[in-house]
Amino acid sequence: MTEKRKLFPVKPFDMDIVYYYKCPYCQRKVPLIAPIQPSMGQCDACHKQFPVAPADKRTLAFIKTVLDDGKAGIDPDFI
Ligand SMILES: [Zn+2]
Repeated sequence: MTEKRKLFPVKPFDMDIVYYYKCPYCQRKVPLIAPIQPSMGQCDACHKQFPVAPADKRTLAFIKTVLDDGKAGIDPDFI
């Protein structure tokens, strides 16, 4: 006998923000989860590395707070 329970859509409990950087070698739009330290990004197309300007930690914290770590930013039909 199989248990048939309805699975409800899982809601987010945390979030991050993706920043896009333009690869200086091939111009590809490279997505990185907002880096908070000066670091090197790597292009997923040409595989070259380049330094990226970091995201502002306070701005990220503000956005995460406003969206309640993602919980306040889901489709209202799924609340
Ligand atoms: Zn590239």
